[in-house]
Amino acid sequence: MSRQENLYIHIYTGVRTEGMTYINPEESFETGQALLDFIYADLSEISLKEDDIAAGMVSIGQIHPYFSHISAEARRLFVDNCMNATYEGSYCIDGLIVLQKRFAGYLEAFVSDGLTEKTIETIGKYRLYSLSQYTMLDGVPMVDHFLMGFEDCLYLELMEIIRCQTLIKICKNCGRMFLPRKSNIDYCHRIFTEDGKTCQDVGYTQTFARTVKNDELLQAYTRAYKAHYARMSKPRKRAGNLSREDFEKWYQEAKDKLGLARSGALDAAEFKEWLKK
Ligand SMILES: [Zn+2]
Repeated sequence: MSRQENLYIHIYTGVRTEGMTYINPEESFETGQALLDFIYADLSEISLKEDDIAAGMVSIGQIHPYFSHISAEARRLFVDNCMNATYEGSYCIDGLIVLQKRFAGYLEAFVSDGLTEKTIETIGKYRLYSLSQYTMLDGVPMVDHFLMGFEDCLYLELMEIIRCQTLIKICKNCGRMFLPRKSNIDYCHRIFTEDGKTCQDVGYTQTFARTVKNDELLQAYTRAYKAHYARMSKPRKRAGNLSREDFEKWYQEAKDKLGLARSGALDAAEFKEWLKK
């Protein structure tokens, strides 16, 4: 076997079902998961040392299922390339960083714009060489793709995401793409704060705080509305009665100010103070 052939891999995808299977049927991944994990992997954390090749090979295996399924020689080649100052190819960490950016761009184009002409032009630049055939895997019809290397593997997953219309959203807290469990989920599960809070924890707390604040503003507004309405409809002898015109004028202004306060354009305390007048 040449060193190049060491990099080939089989991946199975469903004919009518979703999911990516690497060589071994037990190891199946949700479509999109391995690609997203790779795009956002912190490759600077992988340290390769001459005196601990074995540890280096283990950490390479954790980058993506591809690297845990290729042969030990192929992983070794990767580690060697990374430590070889004269190596200029892409089968090394620097090459992977280039791929992270490229595939983040492909996927963002699809997630943000859908399959527009521009998206197709962007992702259509790549040419996938794959020997594919139908096969039965544990009684399930699958497509067996025989791919030449890692980049093909990433591209196949991108094509599967598009084929299966896999729902991918952009996290409203960290801006990274993720696979939501349900379509109404807006935040990812990645750890976001130093004390271990996820984007979902952070996002939920913020939404909750905003809702409470808006409720307070609405309550203050409602109280003031009732008081002003009473001054108009139940004329008393005392000063402080409101004509219908004055009430209407107040009502319009109060409504506008409520909107401004809710959006944050008007200070909440200032708004409440105005309502008391
Ligand atoms: Zn997030």
